Amino acid sequence: MKNQKNYKKQLTELIENYIKPLGVTDSRVISAFRKVPRHKFVPANYQKDAYLDIPLPIGEGQTISQPSLVGVMTQALELKGREKVLEVGTGSGFQAAILSHLAKKVYTIEIIGRLADKAAKTLKDLHCDNVHAEIGDGSQGLPEYAPYDAIIVTAASNQIPKPLVDQLKIGGKIIIPVGDSLYGQQLKVGKKVGNTIKFIDIEPVAFVPLRGKFGFDQNFSQSKFFSAT
Ligand code: SAM
Repeated sequence: MKNQKNYKKQLTELIENYIKPLGVTDSRVISAFRKVPRHKFVPANYQKDAYLDIPLPIGEGQTISQPSLVGVMTQALELKGREKVLEVGTGSGFQAAILSHLAKKVYTIEIIGRLADKAAKTLKDLHCDNVHAEIGDGSQGLPEYAPYDAIIVTAASNQIPKPLVDQLKIGGKIIIPVGDSLYGQQLKVGKKVGNTIKFIDIEPVAFVPLRGKFGFDQNFSQSKFFSAT
């Protein structure tokens, strides 16, 4: 992936053939995709596949999400550029980089230190200067910087973590995959009305589990997520 021209062509094909056909047509979201080189967020041996519409391993048993799904989730937040956004599950940092072009400030939190450190470096190298990355349990949110205009959770939970509800502004949007197994998840988008959130279902998805105090604890059945064929 050393050939810059080649990567731009592959990125355009990804956008035209996979991202737009899924209904991701918001010009700001498409423009953000054009600015973020996905190959910089994956290990060297997967860079040749970075512009295929597939999730890829990023180490520590985690994945960078499928680009079209990143597009669907990002578009659902309807960001205008003035927002403060929280992402739970930094992973590679790719989603945070996309958000950095669409919101005023992005806070992202990752529970696995090695991934968090690597993502922070990639985001710095790409001058995503409005992203603040932390290591920690994002199922508890990031109360220091709350409230948020939007929250995006990129790992599946069997419940909506209460701290995230509390840390979302009234009128704010949250997007989160909900389910207790790899193939039983529903991506939901919600809007905070009063002290509750009204959700609608978007589509079935398959995310890695959200760990931590308000996610799955250490004793949950990993096999439901990892033994699926
Ligand atoms: N958004 C990422 C990207 O653009 O590469 C992909 C995220 S990956 C599907 C899910 C991530 O959530 C994993 O890196 C995992 O370690 C992280 N995670 C799981 N539970 C977490 C928690 N309680 N707090 C923060 N991160 C968590």
